[in-house]
Amino acid sequence: QTFLQRIDALNPTLNAFITLDAEKSLAQARAADALIAAGNATPLCGIPIAQKDIFCAQGWLSTCGSKMLSNFVSPYNAHVIEQFDRAGAVNLGKTNMDEFAMGSSNETSFFGQVKNPWNVSVVPGGSSGGSAAAVAARLAPAATGTDTGGSIRQPAALTGITGIKPTYGTVSRYGMIAFASSLDQGGPMAKSAEDCALLLNVMAGFDSRDSTSLERDKEDYARDLNRPLKGLRIGLPREYFAEGLSADVARAVEAALAEYRRLGAETVEISLPNTRLSIPVYYVLAPAEASSNLARYDGVRYGYRAPEYGDLADMYQKTRAQGFGTEVKRRIMIGTYVLSAGYYDAYYIKAQKLRRLIAQDFEQAFRQCDVIMGPTAPTTAFKLGEKSDDPVSMYLSDIYTIAVNLAGLPGMSVPCGFGDNGLPVGLQIVGNYFAEAKMLNVAHQYQ
Ligand code: GLN
Repeated sequence: QTFLQRIDALNPTLNAFITLDAEKSLAQARAADALIAAGNATPLCGIPIAQKDIFCAQGWLSTCGSKMLSNFVSPYNAHVIEQFDRAGAVNLGKTNMDEFAMGSSNETSFFGQVKNPWNVSVVPGGSSGGSAAAVAARLAPAATGTDTGGSIRQPAALTGITGIKPTYGTVSRYGMIAFASSLDQGGPMAKSAEDCALLLNVMAGFDSRDSTSLERDKEDYARDLNRPLKGLRIGLPREYFAEGLSADVARAVEAALAEYRRLGAETVEISLPNTRLSIPVYYVLAPAEASSNLARYDGVRYGYRAPEYGDLADMYQKTRAQGFGTEVKRRIMIGTYVLSAGYYDAYYIKAQKLRRLIAQDFEQAFRQCDVIMGPTAPTTAFKLGEKSDDPVSMYLSDIYTIAVNLAGLPGMSVPCGFGDNGLPVGLQIVGNYFAEAKMLNVAHQYQ
C-alpha cells in the first residue's frame, strides 16, 4: 500500500511505471502475508518488485515500450517472473523502457520519456530507465532490468542506484522479449549490492527453455559480502580514463579508488586495446540480431495490426511502419543491411571476429587483476532531448559498458558520489566469468 501510494503521488511526474494493477499486486501481497504468518517466508517474500516491461507476465500488459505490443497481454510468465512468484515477491507493476530496449535515455519509449528523480529535466538513462527511476525515487525497493549494451548499468549510474548484469547465461531469457539474443541478459537493480545479491539469488538458475542458459549449481550470491578486501587487485584500463571522460566523473571515480586503497586493495594499470572497436562492433551485431528477432512482429499472431490495409504484404508493411518507432526502424535497416548477401562478410563476419578480440582483451587483463574498475558512463545524466537527434552521440554513452556484453562478462554499477551538477556518478566493476559473488563483495565493502 505504501509503495502504491507513493507511485500515485510521483508517477504522474516521473512516468516510471507504464502498467499498474493494484488489485493484482495486493492479492500477491496478501498471499505473502499468509506465508509469513505461517512461518514460511523466504527473503523476498512480500517484497514489491518493479518489473521492466520487457518481461512477459501472465495477465499483464507486456509492451516492451512499443506501440507494436501496446495491446499485448501475455498469456504466460517469463522465467524471471516465475522465479519471483515462487519466492513470494509482489509484482508492483511494469516499468517504462526504451522501445525494445534500444536506447540510452528512455526517450524512445512509445509511452513517453521517463524523468530522472534527481532533476526532472535530465534523462534517467536507458533502456531500463523506468526501473532505475522507480528505485531511485523509492517508488519500489527493487526492480528488474536487462542489459544488452549497458541498459542496467548506465541507468543505475545516472540515477544513483546499484545494478548488476550477470555473466551471460546466468538469468534465463525465456519470456524476456528478445532484442539481441547473444547479448541480452537480465539482472537486478536496487539500492545496494546486498539487495542485488538477494534478488540475483532468485533470478539466476538453469532453465531448459533458454538454450543458452548455463547448467551450473545454484549459488548464494550473498555469501562473500563481508569478506575483507585486503590484497584485492583492481585493474584500471588506460582506455577508460582517456579522452571523452568528463572531469567531474573522473574525480568521483578517483575518490572511490582512493577509498578502495584504504580498504587494502591495490590498483594496477591494465590495457583493453580494442575498446575503441566495441561501439562499431556492437552496432553491427546488435542490429543484425534485432532485425531477425523483430521479424516476428507481422501483425498476424499478436500485437498491433494496422487498422486499414489492402493485401497481406500491405498489411505487413503498414503494421510495421505504424507499429515501430524511429530508432527501432533504424536498427532493423542497419541489421538487414549488414546481413545482406553482398555485405555479410565485410560487416557481420568482420564484427564477429572483432568481438573475439575484444573478449581476449579481458582474458589478458584478468591475468593481472581480480576486478576491473572505471566509470560506468562518461558523463552524468544529460538533458532530455539533448542527444535524441544525434544517434552517434547517444551510442557513445555506452562506451564503457558495451565491451562487457560482447565478452559475456558480468558487470555492475555502484553509486560513487556526484558530478559538478549534483547528479550521481556510477563506478563500474567488471569481474571475470562467474565472479558475481566477488563483485558484490567488492561493492558491498565500499557501500
Ligand atoms: N544503449 C544501447 C542500445 O541502444 C544498449 C541498450 C541495452 O543494453 N538494452 O542498444
